[in-house]
Amino acid sequence: MSTRHKTTDEEIASLHPKIRRQAANCINELNNSQSRYRVQISNKWKNKEIESHGGYRSNSEQNNLYKKGRKGDTVINKKAVVTNAKGGKSYHNHGLAFDISVIENGEYIKDGDKNKQIIEKYFLKTIKKHGFEWGGEFKDFCDPPHIQKSFNYDTDDLIEMDKNNEKLNGYLQIDENNKK
Ligand SMILES: [Zn+2]
Repeated sequence: MSTRHKTTDEEIASLHPKIRRQAANCINELNNSQSRYRVQISNKWKNKEIESHGGYRSNSEQNNLYKKGRKGDTVINKKAVVTNAKGGKSYHNHGLAFDISVIENGEYIKDGDKNKQIIEKYFLKTIKKHGFEWGGEFKDFCDPPHIQKSFNYDTDDLIEMDKNNEKLNGYLQIDENNKK
């Protein structure tokens, strides 16, 4: 299940076991494509004061991200906002999401619009083929690096399962055939 990229492999290992293999397969397939772009998962990215994981993310890490661009719940700098999700309300907090960084000639592409265009053009078909949902299609908060598998659970369901300790070996007992 290796992608031959250390931090990507570390982040994949942090995900829920139900999606690890698919995440690795998906990334390997993206990187085997004929495009000149490559994808990786960062284990942290530094947005000034905030570091965060591209795979599993704890609730407190998530809350730190939520604070970006906000004072309390009020947005004071729209450009700085990186998420609308507080701790628990992101699929990252349940190991069911990861963020890809697009790389061109060894450099991360930082421009959000360019990222979105590249992913849509070269990678989206493969992402969907592996059963993932793409954040670039989210209507409430367009999030091009974000890839998740919800298994038809919303984050409130997952929070509830977590609270009720519906777990196996420390992981939420996800039913792959869950029908809402
Ligand atoms: Zn994400």
